[in-house]
Amino acid sequence: MAQEKVALVTGAGSGIGRASALALAKDGYAIGALGHTADELEKLVADIEKDGGEALTLVADVADEAAMDQAVTRLTEKYGRLDVVVANAGINGVWAPIDDLKPEEWDKTMTVNLRGTYMTLHKTVPYLKAAGGGSVVIISSINGTRTFTSPGATAYSATKAGQLAMAQQLALELGQYKIRVNAICPGAIETKIDDNTDIRSSHETEIPVEWPEGDIPITGGEAGLSEDVADLVVFLASDKSRHITGTPVWIDGGQGLLR
Ligand code: NAD
Repeated sequence: MAQEKVALVTGAGSGIGRASALALAKDGYAIGALGHTADELEKLVADIEKDGGEALTLVADVADEAAMDQAVTRLTEKYGRLDVVVANAGINGVWAPIDDLKPEEWDKTMTVNLRGTYMTLHKTVPYLKAAGGGSVVIISSINGTRTFTSPGATAYSATKAGQLAMAQQLALELGQYKIRVNAICPGAIETKIDDNTDIRSSHETEIPVEWPEGDIPITGGEAGLSEDVADLVVFLASDKSRHITGTPVWIDGGQGLLR
């Protein structure tokens, strides 16, 4: 069934990805809901359809070439085009002192966050070119772009800095195809990412600074919501941001300026 506008969201089953998929669906996009947890994705697709939207469950690991190839092919065969890509899937991984961080722990964070972003764009950019343009939104972080104080987060920060570099490099490469590429850099957002974080020996890596009023000025310390980030995703996907490319947008309530 041909659609007017189509968006792929990776890591769509929870948190920022889920909120972004719901918000884009409300804005009229058919959604490719990609992730590696089928039941979460099926619930999302059911919620989108309940609201009168259109979505397809795509179960794939973002770092797996064959699975991504298959997922993107299914999406474009079903809807006939692709306009927006939200490269959101990511993990915090292990945060530990550099002399304790194991090579396989380093590799895992690189594989999901950086290879996954590469693979997502490698497989989707041909369809954006064929559509005559589009918007890529990469979910980076304040870590690695504005702050360096999360204890032991060296591998994570390196991937998030790398994602911003990719957005800037690709904004130039893909400008001639009318494809915009931007990076969203969230501060603390209430999601379940902390469940997938393994912090070791933070007493060795923590910077001993504490803000008496909480470290997010705009909220008095409360973390942001996935929906706050989703509104920015919708803006960067839309024509309202038509002159914005190669730009990091920090969305952190001012947190990154304090740390
Ligand atoms: P989350 O854990 O709720 O969501 C991440 C999603 O990605 C999950 O649905 C998970 O199943 C999926 N995923 C993980 N590895 C995958 C893989 N290999 N293949 C396919 N899917 C995979 O966390 P979130 O906070 O919503 O994180 C989304 C993005 O936002 C991440 O890139 C994260 O680094 C970034 N971010 C989050 C925060 C925060 O405070 N929550 C801050 C800055 C940046």
